[in-house]
Formats: sequence, C-alpha cells, structure tokens
Amino acid sequence: TAELVPQAPEDALFGLARAYRADEDPNKVDLGIGAYRDDSAKPWVLPVVKKADEILRNDPELNHEYAPIAGIASFTSKAAELILGGPDSPAIKEKRVTSMQTISGTGAVHLGALFLAKFFPGTKKVYLSNPTWANHNQIFSNVSLPIAQYPYFSKETKGLDFEGMKAAIHGAPDRSIILLHACAHNPTGVDPTLEQWKEIAAAMRAKDHFPFFDCAYQGFASGDLMKDNAAVRYFVEQGFELVIAQSFAKNFGLYGERAGCFHVVTGPAPDAQATISRIASQLAILQRSEISNPPLYGARIASTVLNDPKLFAEWEENLRTMSGRIISMRTALRSKLEELGTPGSWNHITDQIGMFSFTGLTEAQVMKLREDAHVYMTKNGRISMAGLNTRNVEYFAKAVDKVVRE
Ligand code: PMP
Repeated sequence: TAELVPQAPEDALFGLARAYRADEDPNKVDLGIGAYRDDSAKPWVLPVVKKADEILRNDPELNHEYAPIAGIASFTSKAAELILGGPDSPAIKEKRVTSMQTISGTGAVHLGALFLAKFFPGTKKVYLSNPTWANHNQIFSNVSLPIAQYPYFSKETKGLDFEGMKAAIHGAPDRSIILLHACAHNPTGVDPTLEQWKEIAAAMRAKDHFPFFDCAYQGFASGDLMKDNAAVRYFVEQGFELVIAQSFAKNFGLYGERAGCFHVVTGPAPDAQATISRIASQLAILQRSEISNPPLYGARIASTVLNDPKLFAEWEENLRTMSGRIISMRTALRSKLEELGTPGSWNHITDQIGMFSFTGLTEAQVMKLREDAHVYMTKNGRISMAGLNTRNVEYFAKAVDKVVRE
C-alpha cells in the first residue's frame, strides 16, 4: 500500500539548480547543470535551429500525426551517418546498422540497457567508468543489469588512469558490456587519445567484450564532428558489434525537446543484414511498449539541418562558436589561477575537454564556495565550463584561490 513507498532523495543535479535559483546574491555563479550558456550567462538558441524552426513553421504539409515506431527515418538515417562518419562507413555501406529515435540520450541509453537485459547472452555485467554520468547507474539498475566499475580518473594527474582502466578490462569476465563515453567524458572532461582508444579496442577484442558507446557531445567537444566520433569510427572499422546512444541535446541546444537515437551495429558477416532486421523487429516491440513512438519536434529540427548541406555547414559554425567559447574559458580560468599563484597545478583545466572540468576541489571546498561565494557546482568538484563567461571567470578564480588557501 501507498504508505510503504519510502521517500527518495532529490536528484542531486536538479536540487543544485533549485538552490541556485533560490539564491538572491547578484554575484551568484551557476556551474552545475550541463547546458550551454552564452557570454551573458543566457541559454542560446542556435541560429541554425531558429532557421530550421522557421522552415518547419512555414510548411503547410506539416501535421501532428504520430511518428513511426522507429521515429522519423530522415532523422535517424542522418543521425547514423553523423556518428559513424558518413555514408562511406563500412557499417552503413553493408547495411549493418539499425536505428531507433529515442527520448534524447537518456532514452537511448535506456533502450540499449533494456535490449541488452533481454537479449545479451551470458552474465550481462555492465562496466561503467569510475566516475561516470550518475544516471548510468540508475538506468542500468532499473533494468536489473548488474553494474561494475572500471578505474578511469587519476586523482594524481587529474587525467586518465589508463593502466587501471586496461587492467579492469583485462580482469572483467569475458563478454562483459563496457560502457564508453564516445567523447568529452562526463564528469571528468578526460578522454583517451586515439592511440589509447586503439589499445582499449585491442584489450576488449581479446576478451570479447561488448562496447556500449554513449555519445552526448559530438561536435560540442572539439567543434569538429569527425574528431569527436573518432573512437566510434575506429571500433566500427575494427569490425566490432556494438551499440550507440546518441543525444542531440547539447550539440543542437535541443535539451528539452528530447531528440536522440539508439543505434545497433552488427559485425561484418554474410548474414549481417538478416541479423539487423531481427534486431530491428525486437527494438520496435520494446519501443512500442515503452513510448509507442518518439516526439516529433526536436527530430524534425535536427533532420531539417542534417539533410541540407547549407544548414549543415551553418550548424558546424554554431558548434565552433559554442566549443570555441568554452575552450576560451578554459584558457582564461587556467591563466587567472596561475596569475594568482593558486596552490596546485591547473594544466588539467585546459587539458580536459567538453562541457565539464573536474577541478580536483574537495567536497568541503565545494560547499565553502557555495556558502561564501555563491558558486554552485556538484559535490565531486565538477564545473560546467559553459557557466563561466568574461564577467565571472575572474570572480570564480579568486573564489577558488581563496578556498584553496584556507
Ligand atoms: N550521457 C551522458 C554522458 C550525458 O552527459 C548526457 C547529458 N547530461 C546524456 C547521456 C543524456 O542527456 P539527454 O537525455 O539530455 O540527451
């Protein structure tokens, strides 16, 4: 009965956002949630998204009928090309991909988890990086997939614990599922180099592990779509069977519109197309029972851009604007801290990439920053770089300097 339902804790990130909104200090700084802000700390509607919206609004044929179960085909096919590196990807040429439009990246991870819970043979253990996006733990637990961790972040170097990661991959039972962040690892901002990805792939191949790529930041990390999908492309070139959860929240600024995609790529085999069609049939049943069919608006926007070379080029320009501003904030923050002579080394601020930086600040320092300086960041010391701008970066650096010296 209802009285037996226990109270659950508030989601840490959304709780942080609520605390920030309630703070009336004029200098408050929001470095919590991972959403892009312009230099005035305002949400940014991408100019190319405004154009696509205009095109859609002027289309007299547009209606609000249901999308097909797998979503809008003109969107999912281009989404596959985007993550796999274009129509020349061996997986696309050999028709070894099936794609389902999902409720953004979260829905894609969930659909993948559900699919693997049902169809992945053997023990089905999922290895997550330590740390990882907190939602991964809940999503896989919700479908009863057992979770394990692999080391990822080195506290000493504030970079990749590559040896620890490889040792865990070797130590995991054969045919484990390994969740990998395709680029711009959340929360650390630390990615393997391409050489390291090659070693990871070799280690995974040796153990017959199954890659589950989560890609929430393609184009947003480096500003270069083909650079940010390099790891996925490499694994596909190596003939891996794998799945990909793809979000368009950050790279299109379509957060609340929930545009995403789940892709399954099978390995090169004579019967690959038959395998893919069986997988597609099962995904359709899962999708039907979960959401019936996905939402239209965000996918229509993305599809409009992805299918028009001129708009696509403009999108790339918009991506460079966002990633460029974030990179310039990394440089500014590091140089302010170095100028102040803040104890510690700060090269990791510019070495790390994407939306987030793992500062190395302790939980006590984070709490002190919130109380004294009205700076809001997650307890693990992660900051959303997009929350910094030319007006607050010095204020933030000085606050960090103070708390580190205390
Ligand atoms: N995976 C990772 C690693 C993320 O950082 C995010 C965004 N915070 C997502 C998936 C999915 O986000 P969304 O559902 O908004 O697309």
